[in-house]
Amino acid sequence: MRFYVPEWDDAVDAHYDFEHDELSAIDRSERELSYIWDIFEYGTTPIDGVLISREQVETTNRKSERLRKHGVYDDPVLSIPDWLPTISDCGAWGYKSLPFPPYDNAEMLDFYETLDVSVGVTIDHLVLGSGKDKGRLYLDERAFSDGFSKTDIPDRITNVVDLMVDEWPDEWPSYVDDYEPSLRTHEAVSPFTQSDFEGEVDTVLSTLASDPRAVYRADDAAFRYELTLDNAQEMYNQYQAGEYSFRLMVAIQGWDPSSYVEALEHVLEIGYDYVGIGGVAGSPIHDVRKIVKSVGKSVKAFEREHTCRIDTHVFGFAKTEGFDAVGRSGMTSFDSASMLRSAWTGGDNYRLTNDERYDAIRVRYPSNRDSLHESVEKSLRGRELLVALRAYDAKRSLSAAVDTWYETAATVIPETREYLREHRYEDRYDQSLLQDIEEAFRDDFTHARELQASFSDSLRGKLVKLLRKDSPEDPVPFEEYDELLNTAATAFADFPRIPTLIEDAEPTPLERIWTAVEDYATWIGDDDLLEDYRRTLANRPWESCECPICSEHGIEVCIFRGNDRNRRRGFHNTRRFYDEFTDSIPKILVAVQGSAGLSRYDTIEDYLQNEEPAFWEAVHDLPVAEIGVFDAAGVREWWTETGQTVSFAPTRMQENLQEQANRYQHLFLVTPDGDVDGELGQAVAASNCELQTFSSPADLRREVLEACGEDYVVGDDFVPHVPQVDPTDGLNILVVDQCSGSKEFPDGAPVFDAEETLEYSREELLERDNVPQIAARDLYTGRQQKYVREAVRTLRDDGHEVSRYFISAGFGLVSEYDPLPPYEVTFSSMNVSEIRHRSSELNIRPDLEDVLKQSDYDVIFFTLGSDYYTSIDIDSLVRDVPADQIGVVFNRDLVNDQYDNIVSVGARTEDAKNHGTIVVGLKGVYLKNFARRVGTVDSLDPDLVETLCREVVEGPTQAALEQY
Ligand SMILES: [Zn+2]
Repeated sequence: MRFYVPEWDDAVDAHYDFEHDELSAIDRSERELSYIWDIFEYGTTPIDGVLISREQVETTNRKSERLRKHGVYDDPVLSIPDWLPTISDCGAWGYKSLPFPPYDNAEMLDFYETLDVSVGVTIDHLVLGSGKDKGRLYLDERAFSDGFSKTDIPDRITNVVDLMVDEWPDEWPSYVDDYEPSLRTHEAVSPFTQSDFEGEVDTVLSTLASDPRAVYRADDAAFRYELTLDNAQEMYNQYQAGEYSFRLMVAIQGWDPSSYVEALEHVLEIGYDYVGIGGVAGSPIHDVRKIVKSVGKSVKAFEREHTCRIDTHVFGFAKTEGFDAVGRSGMTSFDSASMLRSAWTGGDNYRLTNDERYDAIRVRYPSNRDSLHESVEKSLRGRELLVALRAYDAKRSLSAAVDTWYETAATVIPETREYLREHRYEDRYDQSLLQDIEEAFRDDFTHARELQASFSDSLRGKLVKLLRKDSPEDPVPFEEYDELLNTAATAFADFPRIPTLIEDAEPTPLERIWTAVEDYATWIGDDDLLEDYRRTLANRPWESCECPICSEHGIEVCIFRGNDRNRRRGFHNTRRFYDEFTDSIPKILVAVQGSAGLSRYDTIEDYLQNEEPAFWEAVHDLPVAEIGVFDAAGVREWWTETGQTVSFAPTRMQENLQEQANRYQHLFLVTPDGDVDGELGQAVAASNCELQTFSSPADLRREVLEACGEDYVVGDDFVPHVPQVDPTDGLNILVVDQCSGSKEFPDGAPVFDAEETLEYSREELLERDNVPQIAARDLYTGRQQKYVREAVRTLRDDGHEVSRYFISAGFGLVSEYDPLPPYEVTFSSMNVSEIRHRSSELNIRPDLEDVLKQSDYDVIFFTLGSDYYTSIDIDSLVRDVPADQIGVVFNRDLVNDQYDNIVSVGARTEDAKNHGTIVVGLKGVYLKNFARRVGTVDSLDPDLVETLCREVVEGPTQAALEQY
């Protein structure tokens, strides 16, 4: 499976001066730019391809011309390496408020060919629901004037139609004639007037329908859906008729799983073998999961019916927690920029893993609104802190480092003054462009960099401006320079600050840097981030990362400041993401050894179907893997053309396979004798890729699925299956219960509160005088806990193994036998963020994850209320329940729909009435029902667990009777 990253000019200055925060060249065109593929080596580049939208290509004329001239691989700026595939699309988000995509099918095909991309995508139009009674009205923004503006459109219209006003293109593509002939031929745009919108809404809409400045559609979602499919057909025909060197992918749109599946079936009938799922970017993960799963199922069915292979891409798939769905549904690729952009779009921006993230320390630049004095002060404070942070990273004395900086900085203002007096009339400063003067100043004056680093860009910029104005013929009075320099000198008089500040701090490196950071962050207004900063400084996460960025730049990557740090942090985040991605979905390459017959076929697929039918039969529907034929050119993927030459030269074959293997964890080969040349084997092994060779394709298939992970072997279409559990030999059950407000303990015993239970450990509190030790299961005496206890007893009596834990708002996750002191803490008095915070301090989630891993449970009950679900983030936690185990939650319908092995049982007031109990005891009643009835069945699935829980044995009073 391949991970693509969208190209949005994500580049850094290859020779950035971190010490002084200076770009390598002031003129952007002179800088050497590094993209993510420049920073990492071939084997470790954390992306498998680049997505290039037409919209991004055309952000500036210069970029557009450059890319059209050179193509994306030979462009001197981008210079994407040959081995990275590129997908190009129109960028449907960019024109979502236009009535039609502004591009023509034939023109897009030419665009892709000109750009020399590997894959071009059909023209789709996002299916946006309108949510208004009368549908959607598009208006050309160019038809609004001062005389009649958008806001003059009467409310009675905007209340009932979804209005989309955007600047329409001068010329619409030709296919628009088929839908709105009045539009494309329309030349001059006359302005709207009040009268265009007067009268009954229906009348206005029907008049506007034939107006060249307006498009009205009652059902716009259906239109966009159909248009996307029509474009798919037209572009397919044109593509087949032409000679294009790229592969064509069709983009499909929809609004729910079945509309996507219908679109999929339509485009597969047309003949596409590469399908992109569009329009899911930004959708909630549970919706995406359902759509992807449905599409995946249909793709598998089609592949098997036709013994073919279909590649699938998910556009804008941002969520790490959705890998299971993407991988399990057999998707071939996806793209996302979110790992990159999260580096500067919010907190938790330095990522080690999805669950372990840190906040980079913000060291801010002065803003344009600051006075010179403020700018200098902010620069000095920032510079001093940066020096201290670097010393902390290098484990050197903060005071010594700051003092060294201070000594240099102290000479800068006087020396600048002296330099300017002597050199201001030199030829180098007789230039018209400020940029050239600044460059000359930076090259010639020894302290020019330090001047900016310590005393602000603003001060240096103002001095440069004076230099431009200043000439022997028309001299600037030197007082003007002096005034600027004196302002800086005044601000500097308060420095150095940090050595004095940290004198009183505890003499540990952490407390010292903390004092400096706390002082700075409070002063600059980032005091809300202090807690996160402390974690960053204490854990030093940059030392845990071995990526080339962290290795080279250390703490700079954990400093939030400017493009060159932040985007590098984004590259680092992408690297970390990629590691997790390939851990959960391994990279697998599968190939059969080619033969001389290759050259007789046009495509590898034709060859495989005709010459290697057993291999093709065994692999054509495999998820996750990339599949092909190998010869001296390495592995050629199934969808490529065979090309002119076929060679089996051993040395070249070795080299090429070794190189490809560099980017895979597994290489599976089928050869006639089930073996490969020893040297070839060694070459592949040297690239850290596990090589397995087979003569039997069926054996290979089994091993590939094994490598994908145990879940894949479960069902023959790979998508998750409903687990079936045999209860007859005794079940292994886990019950995750919660603490209750009502507790039983001796009168007069001390009762600990929220703060004490956090400050002291359970053990410490239990050691105190007069503190009773009460096992968790005896302490909690709520109605639910009582019922659950009875259910557990019944289950154990019947030979089932049961582990029971409690989530305690006081002490975190505890086993039923753990002794607890009396306490009074509850999640119900806290808001969501307080609950999360406390839960993280009590380490509840990681502890629970450990418990889930401890045993192969058959059924796991989470008998928890909503606050307790919040404390473990149940919606994501259920992913940790293995696919062959049944998870039972209550009142979480969302989760129910997404996972085949998770069932949500309704436990609301209505349900309680049916069971003759009240809602607080209901989950316990359910568990008792389950315990009593489970012996009557010989196979359990999630739905049956629900049935057993809900079973009302003898009318609604059964449970009620038991209370008497
Ligand atoms: Zn790193």
